[in-house]
Amino acid sequence: MPKNGIAGQLLRVNLTNKQISKETLSLEMFIEYIGGRGLGAYYLNKEVEPRTDGLSSENKLIFFNGPFSGTMVPGNNKINVAFKSPLSNTYSFSLCGGHFGPELRFAGYDGLIIEGKSEGPVYLWVDNDHVEIKSAEKVWGNKIAYTDHLIKEELGDENIQVACIGPAGENLSKFACITSGVFREFGRGGCGAVMGSKNLKAIAIRGSKDVEVADPEGLMKLVDGLYPNFKKSAKAQIRRSEGTNELVRDINNAGFMCTKNFTEGTSEKNKEFEGSVFREKVVYNDVSCYACPIACGKNSAIVSTKYGDVKLEGPEFETLGLLGTNCGLTEWEDVLCVSAVCDALGLDSISAGGCVSLAMECFEKGILTIEDTNGLKLNFGNGAAEVELLEMIAYKQGIGADLAEGPAYAAEKWGAPELAVHSKNMSCAVYDPRGVKGMGLTYAISPKGAHHMVAPVFGGEMAAGNRFEEKGKETLVRNTQINFAAVDSLGFCATCQNGFSRPDQLKALKLVTGYEMTEEKLLFNAERIVNIERMYNVKNGLSRKDDTLPKRFTEVPMTFGESKGQVVDLETLLDNYYAVMGWDNDGIPTGEKLKALGL
Ligand code: SF4
Repeated sequence: MPKNGIAGQLLRVNLTNKQISKETLSLEMFIEYIGGRGLGAYYLNKEVEPRTDGLSSENKLIFFNGPFSGTMVPGNNKINVAFKSPLSNTYSFSLCGGHFGPELRFAGYDGLIIEGKSEGPVYLWVDNDHVEIKSAEKVWGNKIAYTDHLIKEELGDENIQVACIGPAGENLSKFACITSGVFREFGRGGCGAVMGSKNLKAIAIRGSKDVEVADPEGLMKLVDGLYPNFKKSAKAQIRRSEGTNELVRDINNAGFMCTKNFTEGTSEKNKEFEGSVFREKVVYNDVSCYACPIACGKNSAIVSTKYGDVKLEGPEFETLGLLGTNCGLTEWEDVLCVSAVCDALGLDSISAGGCVSLAMECFEKGILTIEDTNGLKLNFGNGAAEVELLEMIAYKQGIGADLAEGPAYAAEKWGAPELAVHSKNMSCAVYDPRGVKGMGLTYAISPKGAHHMVAPVFGGEMAAGNRFEEKGKETLVRNTQINFAAVDSLGFCATCQNGFSRPDQLKALKLVTGYEMTEEKLLFNAERIVNIERMYNVKNGLSRKDDTLPKRFTEVPMTFGESKGQVVDLETLLDNYYAVMGWDNDGIPTGEKLKALGL
């Protein structure tokens, strides 16, 4: 076997006919598509017809690691899953940190493709070379932590890695996630619903194989030299102390922190959730993913609340924002409880928060009555009502069944489409784009709906002092989007870029795989990935008409705070962005562009 980091093997499991097969995977595929996200785009495009119904048995879950997975390269733990989204009806992908991806590599596989549909509930057991489809009758119906526990108990090993769905995935709530290690999620786009539609409750993995790299001594030397960078990086240090909640202070002060379904961009009460307060009041220790020198994960707890004692990993910034400030919560006990409930049910916390806040605004405006909500007083700030509504979404009860279809569907049904804050039926993340215009473009052009991590440009815009300008954002978004396609495919955590420069990333790639890649080639391949994703959607009929933002952002000026008076000029942003991408005015990659990229 060549020593190049990769396992050279793809595991394919068909749940319809129970066929399990192993396919060879070459290093050339990793060079061409870089890794996780790129290989996901390649296989989805090749094997899942773009007009496929996301919940049909023809959809697939395509998991792929990056080239560094299982090595000592810092922050290399992200595994990607590609699938057709039942939520946005688009191409979709989602990345998860923790230990699940490295465990798959230790078991001897770079990727795992799940296809077909089982007749009854099953889970997949991958124990190195032994692969088995097992009955999940005993675990079906359980929430995340108990599912994880039951599977480990049945397999007799506490140290295996389990990725599973909760009740939300089983009931096909369209923004259900897949959770690994109880608190790490493949969060966005509804991959948990896809897994539920296949009657697959969990994937359990135990791996004990070595990962052999091209130059182990050279790699150890490089990694040793990198660790001081993480100590020096101010960003890495504050993330270690306050987690991602270090962002609350600046974003709330700048007036673009989602508050009360984006009717406000800041609040004095949001100060309670600043990172330093988080650290002081609720955090009790730090948690890290595999090979992470930063440890931004935080275990938190609060005792003797109105909900009893609450303990969880998190909440990280997006969860805090969407389930917390966007629903008008002001107390830690409420935020911790709704976060823990959302995790246990297996719902994507961003979409869940976006949907609850929509229902709250509708309730306050009289669009939903107390009869509609089954007696729930859904006012902003009511944490106990939020807990109940999350359960109703996961089990598809009452108005929860409407919300489980996504915010656009629910708002349309309730006669208030203008109140749903989404793009392509996916709820927006924390950043109100009226206060940071580039994020408006990011939400609109993201292939899977309003997802911030496709091109998280807010930090760059704030540093440049031009966050209220549309001009120049097309290039910033383009470059960030291509960089993130590279980083995601390599399997790096984005936070770990602070302390790990591009030249060092390429040096690590050479030491692991033996292949020398230039930055130019890396970014060329990453741009190809972005265009494959776009073309998948184009083949499904998507175009400029689908790259939208809610009118709340384009027509309603922010009422107060540092972003007061701002709206987003989306049409200008799109015109300029399509031009720099080499796409026509309808957002479709030109033949010339595709040819230049070798597509
Ligand atoms: S910085 Fe946070 S998310 Fe990234 S690898 Fe470390 S613990 Fe995981």
